[in-house]
Amino acid sequence: MAGPLLWPADEPWPVCTSVHAKGRGHLLADVRLQRRIQEDARGREYTEGEQRLVDGMARGNHVPGLREDDPLPMLAVAQLYAREVPDLVGPVGQDLLQVFWCPFEVHGDGRTIDVVLKWRRSADVGAVLRPQPEQPVVGRAECVPTMCVVHPEQIVEHEYVGLLDEGLQEEIDEWEEGLLDEEGEDEQGPSSSASYGTYEEYAAAMAAAQAEEPEEVGYMSDLSIAPGWKVGGFASWHLSDPAPVGCQVCGAAMPPLLTVDKWECDGASRSWLPIEDRVADNDPHVRDPVGVYLGRGLMRVHTCPTDPAHPHRLSFQ
Ligand SMILES: [Zn+2]
Ligand SMILES: [Zn+2]
Repeated sequence: MAGPLLWPADEPWPVCTSVHAKGRGHLLADVRLQRRIQEDARGREYTEGEQRLVDGMARGNHVPGLREDDPLPMLAVAQLYAREVPDLVGPVGQDLLQVFWCPFEVHGDGRTIDVVLKWRRSADVGAVLRPQPEQPVVGRAECVPTMCVVHPEQIVEHEYVGLLDEGLQEEIDEWEEGLLDEEGEDEQGPSSSASYGTYEEYAAAMAAAQAEEPEEVGYMSDLSIAPGWKVGGFASWHLSDPAPVGCQVCGAAMPPLLTVDKWECDGASRSWLPIEDRVADNDPHVRDPVGVYLGRGLMRVHTCPTDPAHPHRLSFQ
């Protein structure tokens, strides 16, 4: 996550050429410094020196020389190898996916960040570009990933409950009620098909249900869709009605290739936590190692299953 990338020295780095304010927001260096200070100060107050640094950042947050039409280097976000992530399927023969975005939420009708995907054959990369270009300013600190390493684990997901046929949805409801009866519980947890105004409300409802009955298993929280950054799998539509994402070139239904989540676990879905992380599920390195928060918590990059060269699309929850 967050580079450096296996990028050929003789290949131009992706840039954002959209016309938008590029010089105002947060200095990338400040975002990283602030995270480092927070990390160092975990569990205690800031020292005077740290406080001075943090206060200083709040003042100078722009680079006045940057023009709206200046091409701005895209931010390196992720680099994934097919050999490590079996569900990562791209163009034939290309085993490496590099993900970039322009960290200003101003692009397109949805006024979102702009994502660029670059597939390549890793064996073809000779000399690697050093140093790798970076823009000085980002629109929002939560658009900046913190450098870390992925430890991929392959799991099985099941379709979002609201997209299953009604008979199956009823069977799931009955099965969940049956589990409650078995445990002698007459209270019911949140229904699988409930929808929530914000991710926080959803997580709070799930966490409350979990706290009431820690061993309780539910389709939505434990079996269907895992939280966290992931490749492949299904899309959750817990904040809105399901909105099919279709390819704008060929019309094919586009599954999510990459999901960017605000956290890896939300208290509700402890059952998805890797066993190695269970003792430390309140540790920020376990809950939110990347530090990215897009949309109302989730952003997905969908790609065309017919032709990976067709433009990707984004969806948000
Ligand atoms: Zn841009
Ligand atoms: Zn297509």
